This record gives sequence, C-alpha cells and structure tokens, in this order.
Amino acid sequence: MTLKLAERVVKLKPSASIAAKKMVTELEAAGRKILDFTLGEPDQPTPAHIIEAAISAMKNGETHYTASAGTPALREAVARKIVREKGVACKAENVVIGCGAKQLIYEAFAATVEPDVEVIVPAPYWVSYPDIVGLQGGKAITVTCGAEHDFKLTPAALEAAITPATRWLVLNAPNNPTGAYYAHEELAALADVLRRHPHVWIMTDEIYENLFYEGERSPSIIEVAPDLADRSLVISGVSKAYAMTGWRIGYAVGPKTLIDVMTKLLSQSTTCPSSISQAAAVAALDGDQTCVEEATALYRKRRDRMVELLGEAPGLEVRAPAGAFYLYPCVAGLIGKTTQGGKTLETDTDVALYLLEAANVAVVDGGAYGLSPYIRLSFATGIETIEQGCANVVAACEVLFENKAR
Ligand code: PMP
Repeated sequence: MTLKLAERVVKLKPSASIAAKKMVTELEAAGRKILDFTLGEPDQPTPAHIIEAAISAMKNGETHYTASAGTPALREAVARKIVREKGVACKAENVVIGCGAKQLIYEAFAATVEPDVEVIVPAPYWVSYPDIVGLQGGKAITVTCGAEHDFKLTPAALEAAITPATRWLVLNAPNNPTGAYYAHEELAALADVLRRHPHVWIMTDEIYENLFYEGERSPSIIEVAPDLADRSLVISGVSKAYAMTGWRIGYAVGPKTLIDVMTKLLSQSTTCPSSISQAAAVAALDGDQTCVEEATALYRKRRDRMVELLGEAPGLEVRAPAGAFYLYPCVAGLIGKTTQGGKTLETDTDVALYLLEAANVAVVDGGAYGLSPYIRLSFATGIETIEQGCANVVAACEVLFENKAR
C-alpha cells in the first residue's frame, strides 16, 4: 500500500472480541457449525415499544441532524434517570449522547489524554480501554485484580498505581469480562484514596448497570461519594439492557466543562447520533422497565445453567458472575495438557484455539482482557447453544485428562 499510515494506527490492534466474532463468521461461511460464545450482544429482539417509538419518530419527521450533544428530550431523559436512580443532581447540560458508549469513552480520552498521561485500568478490563488510551499517545497503567480479590481493585493497589501523571482511573462495574461489581463500602474505600489525589478523574463505565443477579444493584461511585462527582464521568447506554446494540446510542454524564469539550469533538466527527435511534432511546429510558427485568431473569437462568454445566469440566474453575453476561473461568488446570493432535496447551490462547478445533466452541482468550489464564464465554446466547456448547467443552476437557500417557 502506498498510502503512509499514521504511526498510532499501525500499532493499533482490532478489538479482540470483534476479531473473534469475525473468525466465527469466516468458519461458518466455510461450512463449519460453530457454537459462538464470543460477542457481548443480547440475542433478544429490541422491545416492541422501543421500535414503535422509532417508527413514530420517522413518521413525525424526526429524520434530520440533531444538536451534537443529542436531542433535549434524550438528554433530559438521561438526567431524570440519574436523579431517579442514583439520587444525585444532574441536568441535561451534564449529559452528552454518542454513537454508543464506546464513542463517548473514545471522545473522553481524545479530549484529555496526550503523551505522558497515565490512565489506570484495573485488569481484567474491557478490551478497548488500553487501545483507546494508546491511540491518544497515553499510557494505560494496568493493575492486576486477581480472583483472590474477586477481580476488584483494592484501595492499596489504587494508591500504589497513582502518580503525578495519572489523569484517569477507569472503573467498570459490573465488569466485562468478570461480572464483578463493588459493594458500597468497597467504593467508599476507593473514594477515600481518590480524595487524597484530586488530580485523578474517574471514568465509571456502567453499561451493565441493569444486569445483576444477586442482591443489590451495582452502586455508582457518584452516589457513594457525591463529592467526587465534579471529577467523575459516568458512561452508560441502552445497548445491553434494552438489546439495542445496533441502534448505537450511549451517554456520558459529568461536569459541564468536560461534556462541552466532548460535544465539540463529536461536532467534528459524527455531527450527532441518529435522530431516530435517539427517539427510541427516550422510549427505552422513560418507558416500562419490565423488559429489563425479563431480560435479567433470562440471563440469570442461562448463567446458572452454564455454571452448572461447565462446573463438570475438568481443568476449568468456574464462578458465578454477579452481573453482566459473561463467565470468566480460570483454565490454569488445562495448561500443560496435551491434545490428541500432540500440541501442548501453553496459554489461554492455545485453550481457546483447542476449544474451537475440538469442540466447535468459540470463546475469547483471557489475555485479551489482561488476565491469564482465563477464557471469556458470553451467555447472551440461546439456551440450545449453551447446552450443546457446554457439553462439547466438558467432553473436550475430559479428553485432555483421559490419556494419562500425554
Ligand atoms: N463498555 C463496556 C464494558 C462494554 O462491554 C461495551 C460493549 N461491549 C461498551 C462499553 C460499548 O457499548 P456500546 O454498544 O454502547 O458502544
């Protein structure tokens, strides 16, 4: 190719989960039937009342550019939700709408990260944070949060990671890939550390906030420590809770100064998100929430079934996630095992490839999320796929243990 690419793009890798999904599509096109657990995307249709709102918007002529920050109706609906659910003050001017939560994470980092800036990213993390930070020339400082701490950041680990160059701490709860989220007291303890470091801002990605399976919902740091709200950016959206991944609507809530800068960037990139999708998102946020309760009940059933089935697989250590829709089993028990083809499994990438080969099951390796040896399986997929896929995984793991000579 003769066009010279920017150095920052040459270094950029594609999103691991999207790359895994692409591989599944290619294998299926070649005639293989793959049981796909790769993508974090609800398999349910978008609820009918949301679709109706979009149709009405089109018929009513809401088919033009909107303000770059989003329609007043949607910004106000988000502000109402924040006040209603988190009990903190929020006005429409504190809200910006984007083409998915991902775009807002991107714009927030584009607005604030430059060379020498550090962003603390607890691992395991959603695949895109370090890459987006790197794209702006910044440094993602990953802090390992192991199973011994339920995959959560401890106050001591946070304190140790903060330097004068730290600009952001990223919190993502419920977490992708582990489903872990913080209790009120745990967030309060992190807030105590953050109060000692006023130069650190907090990005709190709450895209899975509605999807939790036991007890209390995941609290937000802005409700636990309202005094930190003036340096916090809440990220969320309608993709996961309302099965609206294709509509591409997310929102960010924070101090007006940051919201205004992000809006300026949006005005120079996408102009605004789809007017039709924004009207649909208003219906999602303001409408009957029974659809979210039903989705959660469905995911809970699938989670429980998957934990039960995969619990039978030798070499896998499975925990029931508290929220989101992923299982993140440890595969340490499979490392060192030899396949029938004579290959020794050395990493979780080897395990993921083995499951694809031997079980026709697609998963994402834990390395992509910054904590190995693990694999991620999404349970936002049909129960038949779960039953068959887990049975195949159990059989493939058993084979590794059967032949003692290996
Ligand atoms: N944050 C996390 C933690 C996610 O898992 C995802 C989607 N996989 C996003 C943000 C992006 O969501 P959206 O579809 O709203 O861009």
